[in-house]
Amino acid sequence: MMLNAADEALSRRLPQGVLRDIAPDYLQEPRGGFQGQAGLVAAPRDAGECAAVIRACAEARVAVVPRGGGTGLVGGQVMGQGPAPLILSLERMTAIRDIFPDEGVMVAESGVTLQQARQGAADVGRQFPLSLASQGSAQIGGVLSTNAGGVNVLRYGNARALCLGVEAVLPSGQVMHDLKRLRKDNTGYDLRDLLIGAEGTLGIITAASLVLAPVPAESGVAMLVVNSPAAALSLLSLAQARMAGGVTAFELISGQGLRFLDSAFPDLRQPFSSRPDWLVLIEVGLPAGLSADGALEGLFIAASKAGVVQDGVIAQTGRQGADLWALREHVPLANRHVGAIASHDISLPLSEVPGFIRDAGAMVAAQGDMRINCFGHVGDGNLHYNLFPAEGRAREEYEPLRRDLSRMIHEMVVARGGSFSAEHGVGRLKAADLERWGDPVRLSAMRAIKGALDPLGIMNPGAVLA
Ligand SMILES: Cc1cc2nc3c(=O)[nH]c(=O)nc-3n(C[C@H](O)[C@H](O)[C@H](O)COP(=O)(O)OP(=O)(O)OC[C@H]3O[C@@H](n4cnc5c(N)ncnc54)[C@H](O)[C@@H]3O)c2cc1C
Repeated sequence: MMLNAADEALSRRLPQGVLRDIAPDYLQEPRGGFQGQAGLVAAPRDAGECAAVIRACAEARVAVVPRGGGTGLVGGQVMGQGPAPLILSLERMTAIRDIFPDEGVMVAESGVTLQQARQGAADVGRQFPLSLASQGSAQIGGVLSTNAGGVNVLRYGNARALCLGVEAVLPSGQVMHDLKRLRKDNTGYDLRDLLIGAEGTLGIITAASLVLAPVPAESGVAMLVVNSPAAALSLLSLAQARMAGGVTAFELISGQGLRFLDSAFPDLRQPFSSRPDWLVLIEVGLPAGLSADGALEGLFIAASKAGVVQDGVIAQTGRQGADLWALREHVPLANRHVGAIASHDISLPLSEVPGFIRDAGAMVAAQGDMRINCFGHVGDGNLHYNLFPAEGRAREEYEPLRRDLSRMIHEMVVARGGSFSAEHGVGRLKAADLERWGDPVRLSAMRAIKGALDPLGIMNPGAVLA
């Protein structure tokens, strides 16, 4: 590995054996929108080594880009501009340090993948309920730093709600030990909450104590046909009222998404002979003694009577449930197969969802001939609103429209009290959006916090705050 003189000097100040080769994987992100660069890649083995790396970078005034699984969708993990940074990978901090099944707590290092954390919980008869399609690669440090969401937020909350405490290296190079296992701890400013969602701009999370939940005794999955997003929300309300907190997932799938699945994955069996305009995938988890199938049947009958649901299937076996979930999980893959013009991860107050879908559809139609795949965690008001070329046209043809389309969609979301980033974060992709739509007082408080904790500006510069 050929290093320039400055990186050579920095490398001599790092702990023995932390350096890695600069493999191309460290410089990429899933959508290929950003290309990273690195002067050095370091993978410390513990918080002490991590702190030593940060101190050396601070002395050398070299930027640090933390890297987890690299699955982030807003370019926070890749820095392509400015002097080449040191990439600090958590890949060697992979211990589950402790599990306390009776307390419902796991203490895991940041490089543990979400899948490993979920398995670790399952091994002691509990669940770590955060669930994302990227969980095989996404790491605990990454999901906390982006405050990831996924399919179970409706019942269990996002990453923030599932974290009790963190161990972190602050930009000063000191280790903050705050790995508490407490549900109640009102002792001043919550630095854990500052680090969660900070996308590596305020320090490195090296370990976390995580909330484990009981596994519901009974669970069931159904896919129900609704004739509009408004009907989907009526169904949600009915389901919430009948299941008393037992709805664990409530996902919207559009007819366009089903047609994309037909062309990208013709072997995936779809439960309905035609392609309805809107489907809801619902999962429930109930206490012992209650039948999930019975509860879903009761919901189906009540929703049919109310004219909210037109058709539906209830999985009779775990295998059938997994097949229904496979349809939802393949939607983003089918999208990638078609190739989006622009993707939006937005959230809205629930009652604004139908109006937004109607108005945004009309706005997009007025801009040109496009296909819309609107899907996602509608139970949380979180939609993935993605635009695709009309059949037979190339996405390059839409390049002149792309930025304006995204701006108009985000404007419509913000006007309805929504967010231009529901669960993916800000990163580099949406730093300008935050500048534009963030409350100015909040932005200036964020800058003051950044300046106080990271006065040299070495932690992931250009991410979150432009
Ligand atoms: C197929 C697919 C499906 C996805 N589905 C979802 C979904 O349903 N919901 C959702 O919310 N997201 C989803 N994502 C986005 C992504 O998986 C999440 O943002 C995830 O939390 C990123 O974790 P990571 O370990 O890959 O982090 P990375 O991509 O490596 O990093 C993300 C950000 O966190 C910072 N960071 C990473 N580790 C640390 C650390 N230890 N300390 C400080 N900063 C750190 C990085 O610098 C970067 O800014 C999906 C992505 C893909 C590719």
